[in-house]
Amino acid sequence: MAYKITDECISCGACEPECPNAAIKEGETTYVIDPDKCTECIGAFESSQCAEVCPVSAPQPDPDRKESREVLLGKWKKLHPGETPKTT
Ligand code: SF4
Ligand code: SF4
Repeated sequence: MAYKITDECISCGACEPECPNAAIKEGETTYVIDPDKCTECIGAFESSQCAEVCPVSAPQPDPDRKESREVLLGKWKKLHPGETPKTT
């Protein structure tokens, strides 16, 4: 399930450099996650890094984008061709 950033975001920018997939960018009013690049950090970390660093818990799983672990790992592999995932 890709994450999304809710309106709680105070645009502190802490999450952007933590994303292993460069999925986070500054938007007009909040930071935003490209759902096609978000793998819930699967492939790189055991937990969602953006959610861990956010001071206001703005990144949340998006229930409209339910994806299995297998699908998320497949996304990661497409984003990092030739690399070996650190999680399975
Ligand atoms: S959950 Fe992980 S992959 Fe998804 S946006 Fe947050 S840091 Fe990036
Ligand atoms: S860490 Fe949280 S508050 Fe800061 S930009 Fe990211 S989502 Fe917004």
